[in-house]
Amino acid sequence: MSEQPMYKRVLLKISGEALSGGTGFGINNDVVSEISLGIKKLNDVGVEVAVVVGGGNFWRGRTSQGMDRTTADYIGMLATVMNAMALQDSLENIGVPTRVQTGIEMNKVAEPYIRRRAVRHLEKGRVVIFGAGTGNPYFSTDTAAALRAAEMEADVILLAKNVDAVYDKDPKEHPDAKKFTKLSYMEVINRELKVMDSTATSLCMDNKITIKVFELNTENIIKVVYGEDVGTTVE
Ligand code: UDP
Repeated sequence: MSEQPMYKRVLLKISGEALSGGTGFGINNDVVSEISLGIKKLNDVGVEVAVVVGGGNFWRGRTSQGMDRTTADYIGMLATVMNAMALQDSLENIGVPTRVQTGIEMNKVAEPYIRRRAVRHLEKGRVVIFGAGTGNPYFSTDTAAALRAAEMEADVILLAKNVDAVYDKDPKEHPDAKKFTKLSYMEVINRELKVMDSTATSLCMDNKITIKVFELNTENIIKVVYGEDVGTTVE
């Protein structure tokens, strides 16, 4: 492990499911506190942290049967804002300055997404939490993570999941599943590996953004940023 952080600016993607703490629904306060502590540790050593939160613990557009897809996707984006606000509250409780910016304007609860302003917040040591994904239906929060990482010129996307790495098949169902430590973007797309959806993966590929996939906990967040090998690297 190196003595200095490997990255100056990171984009942490936290899925809604991870926030639910294994139950798949709602927000688990212990998990949110654990993530906040990890973010605080990075913030304390001067690593700039931007966060994109998912919403799958409340709603997923593609699984809402019978509903107009666009409407369902907007509901999904609103769900991510609840998660963003919960994380903001938890971070501020332990003294980490934060701003929430949303891809859909809702001025009473958060700032609208303004790239230059977000960059300025990061430079000032504030953690910026991006809610409402890209603000557009037919996208995912993974794509929002890739997009915001490119816009913020982040050094890496930290893709914190509830599995420890990328496998060729679901390790919970297949004990012989093969674990990958390194992958190329093309391999992820061609083998349809469940890292990110293909839109998000192509965006990372085109903009040469490294993705680190690992299991979400404080220890891992620190290890990854200090260059220790955990999980899978896609580059
Ligand atoms: N969503 C969207 N546009 C975006 C981001 C999200 O329409 O830019 C919607 C989409 O319906 C998605 C839902 O919000 O299913 C929740 O996001 P996602 O499933 O990506 O969250 P995660 O799986 O990371 O919890």
